[in-house]
Amino acid sequence: MGNWEENVRKVVPYVPGEQPNKPGMIKLNTNENPYPPSPAVMKALGEIRADGLRRYPDPSSKILIDAIAESYGIDPNQVFVGVGSDDVLAMTFMTFFNSNRPVLFPDITYSFYDVWADLLRIPYEIQALDEQFCICKEDYKKKNGGVIFPNPNAPTGVLLELGDIEEIIQANRDVVVVIDEAYIDFGGESALPLIEKYDNLLVVQTFSKSRALAGMRIGCAFGQPMLIKYLNDVKYSFNSYTMDETALAIGAAAVRDKAYYKETVKKIVATREWVKKELREMGFVFEDSMSNFIFAAHTSVRAQYILEELRKNNIYVRHFHKPIRISNYLRITIGTDDEMKKFLKTLKNILEKR
Ligand code: PMP
Repeated sequence: MGNWEENVRKVVPYVPGEQPNKPGMIKLNTNENPYPPSPAVMKALGEIRADGLRRYPDPSSKILIDAIAESYGIDPNQVFVGVGSDDVLAMTFMTFFNSNRPVLFPDITYSFYDVWADLLRIPYEIQALDEQFCICKEDYKKKNGGVIFPNPNAPTGVLLELGDIEEIIQANRDVVVVIDEAYIDFGGESALPLIEKYDNLLVVQTFSKSRALAGMRIGCAFGQPMLIKYLNDVKYSFNSYTMDETALAIGAAAVRDKAYYKETVKKIVATREWVKKELREMGFVFEDSMSNFIFAAHTSVRAQYILEELRKNNIYVRHFHKPIRISNYLRITIGTDDEMKKFLKTLKNILEKR
């Protein structure tokens, strides 16, 4: 055997949440939306013709970009789209984090960031969240090769105020600052208006959560035209046809139906606030979440035990073993009222049995 393995790029991959498909399961493990996508999406799906699939999709993704720009009141050349925000974020790492200085992100955060950094050999330095799982803005004021964090942060759900975000951007005018707003629609204030003021700010969003389209894979980024141009240069150097024809049509239909999206987000937020109260009464502790999940630890029962018992009842939540500081926490996605009633009832039984 030759030693070709020496020349292989070896990586420790990101591990996505599992996608079981069991009848009657309550799936609260990957922050999906419990409601179906907009009826406009169903209509657009019905209008897709198989014959059109002979052709390559529009590499510029014009119909989707125009619909997003119109909906957000910005210019199409301030919008970039990709195959879920994972694709947009991967392009972002490739495009903007090209320095010998380390990129900064929190110690507890989206666990894909260090995977992309390692894959692309980008130096990085993690910054510890404080005791309340809050991002300490002062940590992001040193020399660096770029800054990225989710707002609200994941898996904590903790939101950083817009004023603090602006302070971080102002302290980092020589690098690109990326705010990953996967969960911003569930109660936070978006940094989107700041793109007019700061040419080094990129705001990334997704259609997977508030727009209930995780299966369609649509994400986007907002920034000044120069940032978007650089992103496109890398995209066209990697894969020109990222977005398929179906995703373009579905995404455009979804983003236009603002009323439906607002209504489902409102329902999820109301359920979240009710579930927070119930969990506290059961002895769970957590920081306030402004996302579609709650990141909670029980004061006396171990997370691993609760996770396993819930699973025996066909209920799935997410558990992260690392870092150690969060190993006793469970991340619970907000489902429908009915799902959460069943979840809470089962949880009560599990805790009483102990
Ligand atoms: N950012 C954060 C913080 C996330 O939690 C997720 C969901 N896994 C993503 C980005 C990626 O979402 P998607 O690729 O579905 O848009």
